[in-house]
Amino acid sequence: MSIPVTAIWWTMADIFDVIVVGGGVVGCAVVWEMTSRGYRCLLLEKNENLISEASSGNSGMLHTGFDAPADSLELQCITYTFPRMFDVLQGFGLVYDKIGATMVAWTQEQASKLPLIAQRSKTAGISPTRELSVSELYSREPRLSRHAQGALWIPEETVVDPWLTAISFAHDARRKGAVIETDALVQNICKTDDQRVDVMTSRGQFTGNVVINCGGLYGDIVDKLAGLQHFSIAPKKGQYAIYPKKVKHLINSSILPIPTEKGKGEIIFKTVYGNVIIGPTFEESASRRRPESDSNTIQRLMRYGDSCVRGLGECPIVNTYTGLRPATETKDYWINSYPESCWITIGGIRSTGLSGSLGIADKVRNLIVNQHGLEPSRTKRTDLERIAIKFVPPSHAMLDDVTYTITHPITLSGIETRLDSQL
Ligand SMILES: Cc1cc2nc3c(=O)[nH]c(=O)nc-3n(C[C@H](O)[C@H](O)[C@H](O)COP(=O)(O)OP(=O)(O)OC[C@H]3O[C@@H](n4cnc5c(N)ncnc54)[C@H](O)[C@@H]3O)c2cc1C
Repeated sequence: MSIPVTAIWWTMADIFDVIVVGGGVVGCAVVWEMTSRGYRCLLLEKNENLISEASSGNSGMLHTGFDAPADSLELQCITYTFPRMFDVLQGFGLVYDKIGATMVAWTQEQASKLPLIAQRSKTAGISPTRELSVSELYSREPRLSRHAQGALWIPEETVVDPWLTAISFAHDARRKGAVIETDALVQNICKTDDQRVDVMTSRGQFTGNVVINCGGLYGDIVDKLAGLQHFSIAPKKGQYAIYPKKVKHLINSSILPIPTEKGKGEIIFKTVYGNVIIGPTFEESASRRRPESDSNTIQRLMRYGDSCVRGLGECPIVNTYTGLRPATETKDYWINSYPESCWITIGGIRSTGLSGSLGIADKVRNLIVNQHGLEPSRTKRTDLERIAIKFVPPSHAMLDDVTYTITHPITLSGIETRLDSQL
């Protein structure tokens, strides 16, 4: 990521209102929210590029929350985010497609679960889901295999560019005065006598009034630096197979299976750029490092796709990718404040961090005001100014005058001109 010289106006002796550790979608949304509200913010990311861990391996779906656990923090964050995200996407001029999702029951047993899922979604007051008759299903999705037993229509499910959405939060925060440091591994934390925190990094020391741990896949390790140990991350791997855009006519919405306790299951969906993707799987992972995809699993995903959508099996895939969910063994959506340590932890944002991002950031803002009693040191700037976006193939994008490396396969597959012309 190259930083224009004009952006380097601060000195390391400066004290930040808020220091955010981690530049995934959650950290980017938090730094954006806090900067917009007038807090002087610093974002520290250990990697060379923002959005390069969990947030670069997701499905790019803005979920309505139709299957989130009732009364959960996750549901609250998603329902807060969903309507507001469209204002943000439109304000920045980002792509999205409210393509809708069709949850298909392939067996009678699965079909028996549809009314309950529809009822839960109605009770949560989120999305006008509706059961479809089998004939209605096939008139909407004529290429689906003929053994479906029932379906649920979730009209508001939306696909976005997951990289561009997240990076735009960081970029707009920077336009509004936030400092963003990459290659800055947070290595140590020290509370000062004057109720501040010194943050030691591989790029030097920074001081802030409150530190927000948005460490995602490494959130438990970052918490330990502050002497906290409430959860441990047990990453869950997801694998995907990507088809070319030329098969996009085979589906008209995202085709969901019936969810299980492991999550939404393997989805056949069309990205905002038109590539068809199958995934993600849900597998244990012994490592926090992004895994390779394995051919047996990819073959299985392709067979699954072929068994659900007629014609898909005739087309070879163009790529694969994997992602790691920052799951904990105990609970999802761990948002806790420790005023005595000048610290806020956001952990275990397992499977809906993009969909819940604005809600998480709003929760953080409330904690900063109500539990840390910290007022912004600057004027708030909540305006949404359009971002001039130019893709620079094969793997960069310019947002206004800043060049960023694209780290998400959905964006890369979408813009790759070679794929555009050949496939
Ligand atoms: C397979 C899969 C599919 C998904 N699909 C969807 C979807 O369709 N919709 C949706 O809403 N969500 C989806 N998710 C979930 C979503 O991607 C995650 O919830 C989200 O990415 C979590 O973001 P994060 O910022 O918490 O974590 P991360 O992206 O892991 O970011 C944490 C950042 O902190 C940095 N960091 C860690 N330690 C340090 C340190 N010591 N110093 C400095 N920096 C540090 C890391 O380098 C990293 O960049 C999916 C996830 C996966 C894996």
